[in-house]
Amino acid sequence: MTVDAGNLWFASENNLFASLNSPTLQKNIPEHLRGAKNDWFGLSMRARTIVYNPKKVKGDEILSYENLSQAKWQGKLLLRTSKKVYNQSLIAVKIQENGEAQTEAMVKGWVKNLAQPVYSSDTKLLEAMAKGAGDLGIVNTYYLGRLQAKNPDFPLKVYWPNQNSSGTHVNISGAGILKTSKNKVEAQKFLEWLSQPAAQKLFAELNMEFPVMASVALHPLVKAWGSFKPSKTSLEFAGKNQKKAIMLMQRAGYK
Ligand code: FE
Repeated sequence: MTVDAGNLWFASENNLFASLNSPTLQKNIPEHLRGAKNDWFGLSMRARTIVYNPKKVKGDEILSYENLSQAKWQGKLLLRTSKKVYNQSLIAVKIQENGEAQTEAMVKGWVKNLAQPVYSSDTKLLEAMAKGAGDLGIVNTYYLGRLQAKNPDFPLKVYWPNQNSSGTHVNISGAGILKTSKNKVEAQKFLEWLSQPAAQKLFAELNMEFPVMASVALHPLVKAWGSFKPSKTSLEFAGKNQKKAIMLMQRAGYK
């Protein structure tokens, strides 16, 4: 079990996973949130979206990840390091959605607009933004959720970008069963159990992510961020385009 389709794809690519013939998992987990060989499955969904300081920015000015490369955001953007798989997966999926040239132009624009050097973690980025280090940035929402759970007055807001185009970037926490497992039958039962509504609710509430099963209720704090259209681009591409994404970010000067 791990986070990020990029990691699961890598394990699959290295033939670590057994192929899993489970009608239950195939029914409960949407196709774009699992591996093409049915050897890894997303169990909850995380959104990597734009968070902003409402004292500095009007939400409806933000529009899209691509729009953050415009000169109007110069000296306002905060980003986490490109070394983190979350950003590698975001860019890998963007390459799939927009092509390499357009994605490189976007990342170059982001780098030009940075308010601060890149952060080592989403939490540090959010804490810095709350103190005025920048106006908006790209993070996974559960990090904001944890800060809001500790402090209901935490002064930042969630924006859902790309609602009129590709949708907001989502990734997964998920799992596969190792070929070397001595308990494949039990492991499959466990994953099937995690994909059922009752477990989906517990799982998503505890990690403040989104259930992969759309009908399952959200954590109240997560629900308060409003509904959004997620990207339906297959997360296979988070892995397939990972190398291209890393090279592209290096060319664009994204540290
Ligand atoms: Fe994380």
